[in-house]
Amino acid sequence: MLGRAELVRRHPGLATIDWDGLNKRFPIRVPRTWAASGEPELLVQALPDPRELEIDAHDTPDPVGEQARSPLPWVVRKHDDRVLLLLTKRCQLYCRYCFRADHRPGEGEDPTPSEWAAMIAYARTSGAREVILSGGDPLAIRDDRLFEAMDAVREGLAAPPVIRIHTRAPITAPTRVTAALIAGIRARAPTWVFVHCNHAAELTPAVRAALAALVDSGIPVCNQAVLLAGVNDSPDTLATLSEELVALRVFPYYLHHPDAVPGNAHFRVSLEAGRAIYAALTQRVSGLALPRYVIDPPDGSGKRDVG
Ligand code: SF4
Repeated sequence: MLGRAELVRRHPGLATIDWDGLNKRFPIRVPRTWAASGEPELLVQALPDPRELEIDAHDTPDPVGEQARSPLPWVVRKHDDRVLLLLTKRCQLYCRYCFRADHRPGEGEDPTPSEWAAMIAYARTSGAREVILSGGDPLAIRDDRLFEAMDAVREGLAAPPVIRIHTRAPITAPTRVTAALIAGIRARAPTWVFVHCNHAAELTPAVRAALAALVDSGIPVCNQAVLLAGVNDSPDTLATLSEELVALRVFPYYLHHPDAVPGNAHFRVSLEAGRAIYAALTQRVSGLALPRYVIDPPDGSGKRDVG
């Protein structure tokens, strides 16, 4: 992990920021290997920015309407056939645009034993066809805890749900994708892994190897990217990302319109601009390389196509 002194040495502009205020808004955590290429489009996702402390009229701490759809702590239920379990608030890297930035790690960053038990019990009796393990990053917890959750939500059910693991770890911390992790996920098929890669610069040799190891073992892998100003808000950048993912046998499933949480206004792209970028992208790539451009509205009704 890159410490404060090294980040400031590499990026002298960080010397004058309100480090403590920004770190309090959302912890500053930048993995050394992830940042190694030094590409500006990559670093802007993780480096603190003074604009995060500015309030925008469109900000809402719950931009996708999860609070009203949370039947109990660490659980979100927006659809009858799906249930979302937040296994932790921790991540290997804290993305400055994160729509759960209000869901700060620190005290209470993991479910208590009773909250964990209640969460699992809810999923087991939910009747859902899909259980989505998210967070934070579900791969920020130990393998045995992850596998325990997967086994428990399926145990004893006549129609065991498909499990989806939504994780950025293969991109931000590819060494987390160990042989033991892969074997454990593989043994718990059908399980799909959804990664989160926003720019082809994130596809380092180590990330490519981690993704290949997952796919080679028979685990289906999809990508969810977020449309971000200054990172990937151009048809060419998105086309390169999609084509690289397809070559790696990772399906580019979603392109998310950025959510309006307090502190991420400088990452937002207008809907008009996003639609124009997406229209150009449809002309650039094959159907296989074209993600669905979606928005997740604050009313909690779930994702809608906006492309
Ligand atoms: S890895 Fe995901 S949950 Fe964690 S900070 Fe980034 S976007 Fe948010």
